[in-house]
Amino acid sequence: MDIVTTPIGWIEVVCGPMFSGKSEELIRRLRRAKIARKRVQVFKPALDDRYSSDEIVSHGDQRMKSEVVSTAQEIIGKIDWRTQVVGIDESNFFGADLVDVACRLADSGKQVLIAGLDTDYLGRPFAPMPELLCLAESITKTLAICMRCGNPAKHTQRLVESSDLIVVGAAGMYEARCRRCFEAGVPKQEVLEFAKPAHTR
Ligand code: ADP
Ligand code: ZN
Repeated sequence: MDIVTTPIGWIEVVCGPMFSGKSEELIRRLRRAKIARKRVQVFKPALDDRYSSDEIVSHGDQRMKSEVVSTAQEIIGKIDWRTQVVGIDESNFFGADLVDVACRLADSGKQVLIAGLDTDYLGRPFAPMPELLCLAESITKTLAICMRCGNPAKHTQRLVESSDLIVVGAAGMYEARCRRCFEAGVPKQEVLEFAKPAHTR
């Protein structure tokens, strides 16, 4: 029997709430791939330019150069055929198209590393992450620390008023919360001390 030595592609997903270390973990895996002398390309959505327009940046300020794309399809157009490892950060911003793109890349022999939020500000599964989790070879769920009680946190708590699915922001607009402390949606403004007029505190 022949031994197959051609490398095959696969999909690895890292998911969890904000502040749980998804970007750090993605950067760690990509750095290791570079150490192994693999050819790496990194992408992030144009939507997320909170810290840098041409780097992925973790909340702990780890950084890695990345290419910015507006749609998942654009990733295919920008792939160098020699690339072996493709990293994608903030994947929940790409929408349903990312599922087909990730599968095509993996089918063509590339190692696809995907990081993204698995739930939204209401605690609902955040497309396209659920489908990617089903199709992936490997999945990792990262947890943050609940900012209320210190327990492991799986939720992203929105602190500002908006019913839009996507409101890009970091510290001050969102915080990590555990299952018990999470308030789906936006906590009522009167429970937030800082939102009260000074004379009522
Ligand atoms: P993610 O990509 O999941 O938003 P990052 O990788 O950008 O997470 O940031 C993780 C880092 O954020 C941690 O190593 C820590 O330094 C910092 N951090 C800030 N708040 C929290 C929190 N509530 N729980 C855990 N880490 C936090
Ligand atoms: Zn808690």
